[in-house]
Amino acid sequence: MELTRFFQTLETNFPLCGVRPALAEKIGSDVAGALERAGLLSVLRVADRYPCPQPGGEGCPRHIMETGNGSHVAVCGNDPAECEEMRLTPRDVELLGVVPERLLEQLRSPLQISGTVREIIGIPQAYQVGFFIPQPAIKHPVFFLTAASATQYAAMLEALRSRAEGGSFAVVTPTDRFIPPETVRQFRTMGVPIISLVDTVRLSPAVTLEATTNVLDLFATIGRRTAARVSSVTEVFADALTPQGWKSLTEKEYRDLASTAGIYQIFADERARTACKLEGRQRRSAKGIQPSFFRMLRKAAEASGRFDPNVNGLTEEQLSGKQIFQRARQAIDLKRSSGWVLFKTETVDDHAEYLFQPDADVTFALIFLPKS
Ligand SMILES: [Zn+2]
Repeated sequence: MELTRFFQTLETNFPLCGVRPALAEKIGSDVAGALERAGLLSVLRVADRYPCPQPGGEGCPRHIMETGNGSHVAVCGNDPAECEEMRLTPRDVELLGVVPERLLEQLRSPLQISGTVREIIGIPQAYQVGFFIPQPAIKHPVFFLTAASATQYAAMLEALRSRAEGGSFAVVTPTDRFIPPETVRQFRTMGVPIISLVDTVRLSPAVTLEATTNVLDLFATIGRRTAARVSSVTEVFADALTPQGWKSLTEKEYRDLASTAGIYQIFADERARTACKLEGRQRRSAKGIQPSFFRMLRKAAEASGRFDPNVNGLTEEQLSGKQIFQRARQAIDLKRSSGWVLFKTETVDDHAEYLFQPDADVTFALIFLPKS
């Protein structure tokens, strides 16, 4: 079960709570029921207010009153009354809510996080969920943040970053709709992945949270600093992919790298639309390479696992994704007797898919235009 509405509502109403009928309306009754069975929505207490159709005067929303023998009624507090009186069942008056610690504890299994959940003193709506431990003796803290605006998120991320004093960590948020892609990218280059729960977990039929994606891929960039000190995202002039991984380049770094093109067995530059490669002893250069070739290879290189250009690539008039991919590889990748050096072909269910898996001995630099 997808939890999109739940995470969106949680994000702007943290910590989400309300009487059962109101929550069912906000996030869908199926989802609300399943979350309650999962223990992600808990009964907090008997509510004292009940929503009314058009909150009006000071007496709104309706007040919940006991009428004896356990039944309740919601009464408008305005004089004269503006909302209708309502009889309520015992289930209607229970105030359900998300207990942040309980939600975050349930994230630890699908996200492979260990340790204790605790609030972060001094940053409201921020928690340490635990640690991601890629191998013994290396552990990276994982933080949960939630905010209702881009400004709030920016401030919280900055607070975490300055407290970490250069250490690596990961950030989990309900959705990524308030976090600009430049921010995600800037943090990624600092070795800090920002992970959106909407894209990462759902509710299994057994009502537990389960990962919808490979968790190790999500955390793959943690601690892997790829950026030179780029003080502002506006300075990113190009992105480079080398055997050391991705790196954002300033204009000067781009010029420096481009001037050393000759030392690489494979070098390609989306800015200049050029490529050159060392075939045997012969260096072959090409100009005017199509931008779509670079975009396609970038998608393939960024894919986690195998890449199907017909499904995840791009198409152009007359050309299928596969055709563009193959032409792009022809133009930029290098073919040896053992096969392609950067992008391997793998046959899956009778069709070809591709895997970015450079030969260990190849030297290469692929330069792309910065994203966005
Ligand atoms: Zn009212």
